[in-house]
Amino acid sequence: MQQNFLAVNAGSSSIKFQAFATAGDNLARRVSGLLDGIGSQPRLHIKDGAGATLVDESLATLSVPSVEAGEAIVGDWLTGTMAADIIGGPIAAIGHRVVHGGPDFSTAARIDDAVLARITALTHLAPLHQPKNLAPIHAWRQRRPDLPQVACFDTAFHRGHSELADRFAIPDALYREGVRRYGFHGISYEFIAGKLREVAPAVAGGRVIVAHLGNGCSLCALQDGRSVDSTMSFTALDGIPMGTRPGAIDPGIVLYLMREKAMDAAAIERFLYHQCGLKGLSGISNDVRILEASADKMARLALDHFVYRITKEIGALAAVLGGIDALVFTAGIGENGADLRARIVAGSAWLGLTLDKDANRAKKIDLSAVPQGPRVLMIPTDEEWMIARHTKRLLDAG
Ligand code: AMP
Repeated sequence: MQQNFLAVNAGSSSIKFQAFATAGDNLARRVSGLLDGIGSQPRLHIKDGAGATLVDESLATLSVPSVEAGEAIVGDWLTGTMAADIIGGPIAAIGHRVVHGGPDFSTAARIDDAVLARITALTHLAPLHQPKNLAPIHAWRQRRPDLPQVACFDTAFHRGHSELADRFAIPDALYREGVRRYGFHGISYEFIAGKLREVAPAVAGGRVIVAHLGNGCSLCALQDGRSVDSTMSFTALDGIPMGTRPGAIDPGIVLYLMREKAMDAAAIERFLYHQCGLKGLSGISNDVRILEASADKMARLALDHFVYRITKEIGALAAVLGGIDALVFTAGIGENGADLRARIVAGSAWLGLTLDKDANRAKKIDLSAVPQGPRVLMIPTDEEWMIARHTKRLLDAG
């Protein structure tokens, strides 16, 4: 019997959602939607499984001032007759992306009152993101209290890290209250680890570095398909530079901003999340495409620095793994930025990585120039599919 699952990924100004139907052992995408520009220029775009547009509508800013308001619009559409026709029946369960699972959630969890209380109690570890993830959970609990809901955590895939990798060199009491190197983008890394077994079985059990390069950027070291370390840590600020976040910086800079610029926590938070990274360094844009098209020397410097920091961290994770059998690129920049891929591979040539220029331009999966040695791969990520998969698994488990 066909079952249908909904995956919801609510961010700070957008809600992504996808509906899947069981198709044999797999899950087939039936609907894919994005409500973005929440609070500024809201736009709802919904496609069917074949990519045909079902809805493409600009909405009045005042009608979608918050993620909660956006969730009501998305929920109305998903419970309407058009959605039921296209999905092919009612929704059996909903999976949600939840950014923080803290030290305890090492896998997805079915949401009940106790789980919801535990997730809510972790809000202090991700004060910007956790409330946005909780909003659709509450909304669906009100709308359809009978519908099973599942939380999929961005941190869960990293919970197997050794204590060595999980610690900062700070007093133990802080570690015990939760100040740890959690790591994020785990739903994406778990998808890639699974996909590797399909598309590159020879290396899936080996030492793999995955570069998730999108709006947020991080690297993950996989050993036999399990995460052993990652560049993001306590928050999604650490590691390599991103569109608007700086990646790792000397914590002394935060003290400097407090003392010399009289910035408080809220101002520093805004600065670190929204005014740094490619955008801050270039002074132009967070979008790689705009920087690549620019003749401005700061645009070039920002991209050079991005490549420099990524290759440096690839070296660090290769040291953790004791070598590398594959480097995988994924997410917006990783999947589409052929020039940046080429530059990152060139900077990592000392690890034996090679690149076939034609395969790189043609967006093939295996981009390596030679049949032997470590592989360079490009694998599109699919976080919503992974969320739907966990949701089905937990529903099947009863
Ligand atoms: P994501 O968060 O995975 O959706 O990635 C979004 C980012 O991907 C954007 O900010 C762009 O910088 C980047 N991106 C999208 N298309 C391209 C492209 N063709 N070349 C380089 N970067 C791209």
